[in-house]
Amino acid sequence: KGVLYIVAMPIGNRADITERAKEVLASVDCIAVEDTRHSRPLLQSLGITTPLMALHEHNESQLVSRLVDQLDSGRSLALISDAGTPLISDPGFPLVRACQQAGVRVCPIPGPSAVICALSAAGLPTDRFLFEGFPARTSSARCDQFSRLKNESMTLIFYESSHRITESLADMARVFGGDRQAVIARELTKLHETILSHSLDELCQILEEDANQRRGEFVVLIAGASRNEDEIDPEAQRIIEILLEEMP
Ligand code: SAM
Repeated sequence: KGVLYIVAMPIGNRADITERAKEVLASVDCIAVEDTRHSRPLLQSLGITTPLMALHEHNESQLVSRLVDQLDSGRSLALISDAGTPLISDPGFPLVRACQQAGVRVCPIPGPSAVICALSAAGLPTDRFLFEGFPARTSSARCDQFSRLKNESMTLIFYESSHRITESLADMARVFGGDRQAVIARELTKLHETILSHSLDELCQILEEDANQRRGEFVVLIAGASRNEDEIDPEAQRIIEILLEEMP
């Protein structure tokens, strides 16, 4: 049987590709990419001439069984994303699951991912964190999503694009409270890399005043809800209420 390699790519700085990633990409029979126009120049600059095929969210489910058959018959495949680690807010989950089910080996080739890159430098607790991917697209769905996370004590991590960063931050300030500490990690590993650590209100203001701070790609990290020593854990409170109702 062949092997499916899940290969992490740089999130901006091309020098972040690993030696092992280059070896694997050069040796497999085919590389599945999100967008051939995006990945071809980078692969060419690395001297990698392996054939490419497009695998994106729109054709992934149709292609999965064909790819699993090919892997089953001994061909090896590498999956890459436009940036970072495949499957992390990117395509690949149906393929990996189908390979697992078909007994095809899935081999991760680790490397950059914006979520871990941002967390490592944000100065917020890293021992427990909750990665939420992209917030919902509409303001009301976003506010519902944030409300469910309001009392969460883990560091919260979101991806966001330049199109929605100001709206998302405003909703975060509204739901989590303007004085909640947060970090915006922008354009990581690139020329304009910026890591800003402030309250949500201050971050909203910085972005409002400086259009440059609204450009590029963003990871937003929110400090978890602080646990007051006297405060009862919301889950414990819920259980106490259920028990009290049941008591004679
Ligand atoms: N698979 C990627 C990973 O492992 O990080 C994430 C892909 S997701 C479609 C793209 C989002 O990741 C961007 O909108 C942004 O939120 C985040 N991102 C990617 N590269 C980034 C960078 N250099 N700086 C900050 N955020 C980045």
